[in-house]
Amino acid sequence: MTSDRPNLRIDADRLWGSLMELAKIGGTEKGGVCRIALTDLDRQGRDLFVSWAKAAGATIKVDQLGNIFARREGRDPSKPPIMTGSHLDTQPTGGKFDGAYGVMAGLEVLRVLHDSNYVTESPIEVAVWTNEEGCRFAPAMVASGVFGGAFTLDHALSIKDRDGVSFAEALRKIGYDGPEQVGGRKVGAFFEAHIEQGPILEREKKTIGVVTGAQGQRWYEVSWTGMESHAGTTPMEGRRDALVGAAELIVKCREIGNRPNGRSTVGVIESLPQSRNTIPGRVFMTIDFRHPDDGELTKMDAEMRAAAADIARRHRLEAKIEQIWYFPPSPFAKELVESVRRGAEQAGYPHMDIVSGAGHDACYVSRVAPTAMVFVPCKDGISHNEVEDADKVDIGAGCQILLQAMVERANT
Ligand SMILES: [Zn+2]
Repeated sequence: MTSDRPNLRIDADRLWGSLMELAKIGGTEKGGVCRIALTDLDRQGRDLFVSWAKAAGATIKVDQLGNIFARREGRDPSKPPIMTGSHLDTQPTGGKFDGAYGVMAGLEVLRVLHDSNYVTESPIEVAVWTNEEGCRFAPAMVASGVFGGAFTLDHALSIKDRDGVSFAEALRKIGYDGPEQVGGRKVGAFFEAHIEQGPILEREKKTIGVVTGAQGQRWYEVSWTGMESHAGTTPMEGRRDALVGAAELIVKCREIGNRPNGRSTVGVIESLPQSRNTIPGRVFMTIDFRHPDDGELTKMDAEMRAAAADIARRHRLEAKIEQIWYFPPSPFAKELVESVRRGAEQAGYPHMDIVSGAGHDACYVSRVAPTAMVFVPCKDGISHNEVEDADKVDIGAGCQILLQAMVERANT
């Protein structure tokens, strides 16, 4: 009964059916899903999950941020649970798989264990994290963030949406303001299954992405100051054109991002005074740097600052650089990453190591528990879009790996 490698199989059709049933809640005409955090549709999605989890023999607990934990007791209830999960909220033009997949895959694990009467040594839990997307209540991943110690409970509860409704009010309104303390308890391991949301697995024809960690991020705001002057009477030499400085830095940032696993994006640029015959004297721009290795991310920072200083000197500009956000790389737990990789090997699924380009609840949970993720491909790498799609076979494969990894850990 407690063999490490029981012959348990997930049911891909049942998993797919659950995903499609869930996608009806908030389903859009274009085939996507709009199920914004802490709305009545979010409540309906939660209610459906809770009813399914109970039918699979799980008991339900809800914490003060509305995070739901469906628990299947282990042979030794005193052991920390082996946990999986993701989120049920979506972007306004979201798809059927982002988040929902990780929760339904966890549900499928519960169902398989229930149907085969299999009891693991450690308890198994499936988590639904509140407000992962952050589109109604910013920032993203706030509830798993409190669980992981990145934010305080009070901070999360006091966040307001654009209509001035607080997280706490919205949570109460849908009846998911639970009694349990957020976090502060031991978790044996956390696994999250997710669609890749990028094009790599599909391009490389791999079924399973063994996620080794999530990349770190540095966000900047750069303000350039030069001098406005007449476009016709000011000679080219001696101009203090802030927009030319910004332009050179944009090109430089692109070069800085051009390194293995590097990402660099300048997404906002505002020049003033927005007059075609005045030399721009002030420019505001943003920079988004990402890298899975903190050392490389630090180098990118230094290169950018050196480039900005050089550009400023050459054009007689002033560059004020403010780093407004730093999210350190979250390397996942080696032994859990290894069990995902081994699972893929044993099952014969084509697989590769991959770094998560996006943030996930797992990134915050990884601060308080050993964590790993399983990625499956999504069609054309598209996510946060109503056309988001995935293949039933891949979806099933990822869930099978999740089941194997969880049972293995729960019996260790
Ligand atoms: Zn997600």
